[in-house]
Amino acid sequence: MQTQSYPNPLRVYKFGGASVRSAEGVENLSRIVAAQPGPLFVVVSAMGKTTNALETVLEAFMGYRDAEALNRFEAIEQMHRAMMEALFTGTARQTAEARLDDLFAQVRRWIGSATSRDDYDRWYDRLVGYGELFSTVIVSLYLQEQGIPNRWIDMRQCFVTDSRYREANINIDRSAERLQQALAGASERVFVGQGFIGATAAGHPTTLGREGSDYSAAMVGYLLDAESVTIWKDVEGILNGDPRLFDDTVYIPQLTYLDAIELAYSGAQVIHPKTIKPLQNKHIPLYVRPFSDPGKPGTVICGRIDRPVGVPIRILKQRQVLVSVRPKDFSFVLEERLGDIFAVFQQYHLKINLIQSSAVNLSVCVDESRYLERVIDTLQVDFRVVYNQGVELLTVRGYDEASYDRYVEAPGVMLVQKTRRTVRLVRKAQMSC
Ligand code: ASP
Ligand code: MG
Repeated sequence: MQTQSYPNPLRVYKFGGASVRSAEGVENLSRIVAAQPGPLFVVVSAMGKTTNALETVLEAFMGYRDAEALNRFEAIEQMHRAMMEALFTGTARQTAEARLDDLFAQVRRWIGSATSRDDYDRWYDRLVGYGELFSTVIVSLYLQEQGIPNRWIDMRQCFVTDSRYREANINIDRSAERLQQALAGASERVFVGQGFIGATAAGHPTTLGREGSDYSAAMVGYLLDAESVTIWKDVEGILNGDPRLFDDTVYIPQLTYLDAIELAYSGAQVIHPKTIKPLQNKHIPLYVRPFSDPGKPGTVICGRIDRPVGVPIRILKQRQVLVSVRPKDFSFVLEERLGDIFAVFQQYHLKINLIQSSAVNLSVCVDESRYLERVIDTLQVDFRVVYNQGVELLTVRGYDEASYDRYVEAPGVMLVQKTRRTVRLVRKAQMSC
């Protein structure tokens, strides 16, 4: 049975770092929220490049360079102070500054007091997740000032995760209860919570993986049985290729969950790969809409579409390595040893993006990694290994003759894998697509 003690049905809006990188961005967010009269859960990322900046604070801190860490943190503080100056006046400004000062002091205390720094991932989650706390405090107070009463939600109290630091998974049952409780009995119609963060059952902060706010928004939608989830982005919607890489892109109005999941896993950066599954499970539509032009419909991702995509979708994953492995002699066929080979890749967390095998040869395309050499060394004990760096993986979903010829018949292609709908190829990295 479903509890109805929180406003329902509600919609989920997610705003990424680019949408809130400036005071104008926050003002625009507020207008978008004001235009939606029903109950709304707003998920916000850290402002601009705050997460990257916090990562550099962490680097210095882990290297016991505390003065440098504090210095770098100072710049982050300044950026948020400037934001508050631009957005607030009078007592509202004092309130905002007091709340942020409190959060800044927490970070400074961590930097100043900690002794043991051996667990990088755990420290990462303790410090880097603050970016979302800063941004949501500012957004929540700003909405308040604009006459939009709202409840600030601490997602560390709502998303109960496992302790896979930096890549934590959300426990569905425990989080559903907590999140619903956090909203219960609200007189406000708007809730503002952080993307990217949660905490273990014991209360240790965790993060959900870089760019994980999309996943946060999807999980909020899932756990609250939302009517829809909208990701507001700095693009028109989903295009049939990353416009920074392809010059002839077109906008796609509708996509199925299946297409979207394939796109995200092949490396399309428009949505985080973990976003789709929870939404598909509950048939919640996902909209990707342009933040700077909220009148436009964007792309809808749902179970069934009434307009076929009609154009090939291209996804390019750069910085890849193609590794080929074969037995040193033919005393065994490779199949018998596949498990051992994959275990080596897994041990070093190398992400395998494509696999092709025969009786005596296995080729895999993996993300570049600083552990590559170790993987090769380990494999070379039993196998003959060759590898090519400086390659990229191109996926063309829904290819037609023209795109097939253009990409597959081109020079520099090293491996091709083809199914009825999709062709994937590994090729030498190219300057243009
Ligand atoms: N702020 C986090 C990041 O930049 C999460 C997100 O933006 O989705 O990775
Ligand atoms: Mg971000």
